[in-house]
Amino acid sequence: MTDQVPEIDDEACIGCGVCEALCPEVFSFNPSIGFALVVNPEGADPAKISEACQACPAHCIHCSQVLEEEGGNAQKNTGN
Ligand code: SF4
Repeated sequence: MTDQVPEIDDEACIGCGVCEALCPEVFSFNPSIGFALVVNPEGADPAKISEACQACPAHCIHCSQVLEEEGGNAQKNTGN
C-alpha cells in the first residue's frame, strides 16, 4: 500500500489557500501565521492529496511516498 505524505515548505507558501480548498481534511491555511499547515497527513484519499500538491501555485507542497511493509513497518521512500 502506498500513501501520499504531504509536507509544506512554509517559507515558500504564499498563503493562497488552494490546498485547503481542494483538500480541507489534510490542509489548513492559517491567516494569522501566513502559511498552510498539514493537519492530518493521512486524512484523505492519496489521489486527492496528490491533486492538492500539484495544484499548489508555489509548488511548495512535497508529497513523499510511504511504502507500507508487511508487519506494519513503514519505510519512507525519498527517491534517493
Ligand atoms: S496551495 Fe501552496 S501556496 Fe497555497 S496555501 Fe497551500 S501550500 Fe501555500
